[in-house]
Amino acid sequence: MKIVVVGGGIIGCATAYELARAGCAVTLIERATPGAEASGAAAGMLAPLGDSAPSPFEELAIASWRLYPKVAAELREQTGIDVEHVTRGTVYPLFTIEDVRLAETRAARHLGKEFGIEAWDTAEVRDHEPALAPNVRGAMFVRGDHWVNNQRLVIAYAQAAVAAGVTLRAGLSVSRVVVESGRARGVVADGERVDGDVVLLATGAWTGQLVASFGGRLPIEPKRGQMLSLAHVPPVLRHCVHAEEVYLVPRPSGELLVGATVERVGFQGAVTARAIAGLLAAAIELVPALGDLAISRTWYGFRPWAPDSLPVLGPWPGVDGLWVATAHFRNGILLAPITAQLMTTWIMTGKPGMDVRDFRPDRFVNAR
Ligand SMILES: Cc1cc2nc3c(=O)[nH]c(=O)nc-3n(C[C@H](O)[C@H](O)[C@H](O)COP(=O)(O)OP(=O)(O)OC[C@H]3O[C@@H](n4cnc5c(N)ncnc54)[C@H](O)[C@@H]3O)c2cc1C
Repeated sequence: MKIVVVGGGIIGCATAYELARAGCAVTLIERATPGAEASGAAAGMLAPLGDSAPSPFEELAIASWRLYPKVAAELREQTGIDVEHVTRGTVYPLFTIEDVRLAETRAARHLGKEFGIEAWDTAEVRDHEPALAPNVRGAMFVRGDHWVNNQRLVIAYAQAAVAAGVTLRAGLSVSRVVVESGRARGVVADGERVDGDVVLLATGAWTGQLVASFGGRLPIEPKRGQMLSLAHVPPVLRHCVHAEEVYLVPRPSGELLVGATVERVGFQGAVTARAIAGLLAAAIELVPALGDLAISRTWYGFRPWAPDSLPVLGPWPGVDGLWVATAHFRNGILLAPITAQLMTTWIMTGKPGMDVRDFRPDRFVNAR
């Protein structure tokens, strides 16, 4: 099967890799370089447990989380790239006794064991993460919340894809999907036609524009996220720390990531003074010692978002051979391995092998 994958973010690269391993002839088209957009801008946290009741989304997230140790080892073996899969766990600081009680209830959840969920009292917080501010009364600790270096991950997936036989066409921008007699036949990229039996759109926040090229409508929007990093040598924090206003991700490379805003400002590509000031104020309030660290980088990215905040995965209704995998919003790094596996199985067998009812593109196509 000849497949054109459009978009070289984490979703396009991971899916191209899986499709090639399953025997497809894959061309991956990316207008810039792999990881140039949201996938290079992310913090790389792999935190699949939601606050609410179990849902198909949480199932998808947990399934992907379970794949990560194997994915990291496999990519390292095939490309030599260490994706910095860190398994030290995340601390969720709590400021009231009631919150600590709630955390104890959550620790008793059925997944508590697999994810190593613990409720820490004040003394345990001081013991495990002494740099946290004195007003932190307790914490929920989730040992199973891991993180990776997403810049390395997307490059590793792209290299592994090429090694598996994928033709990577970087620097080529797709202007439209070719649809003839109700079937996708390929795409037009910088005036060149690239043919395929199947076209998969993995174009992140820009997917709505390509869907519009054949008269379709998909309400995908960008949600801008701004972040910064601090020089974290010697390290102040051991764990990832995730509070309401800010999260802090210590990378083995010696950076501490401070994130992130979630803004609905269209495609305004800018790092703003207000956002960076807000993130820094929240970070220093939570961990006062961070005030003395040097700022190393600031950046932004556009998360692909659908109005119900769920991914959009599956066949495009009414156009045979056209598929979409996007709108992973705040969890695209976490969800990449399962998305790649699911889309490959679905495209090749016609069956997704998972409960995908909440994710199908036709939920928007039929709702006007
Ligand atoms: C600040 C921030 C922090 C985040 N933190 C996390 C996190 O901790 N954990 C997590 O799981 N997720 C996180 N995310 C979310 C995650 O980054 C995204 O969900 C994910 O990267 C989306 O991947 P993608 O491949 O769909 O999109 P993208 O990475 O945006 O890739 C789409 C690609 O398509 C290309 N493209 C678009 N149009 C065309 C065209 N016409 N022709 C050719 N190529 C085209 C683009 O150049 C781009 O490279 C974060 C995001 C941001 C911005």
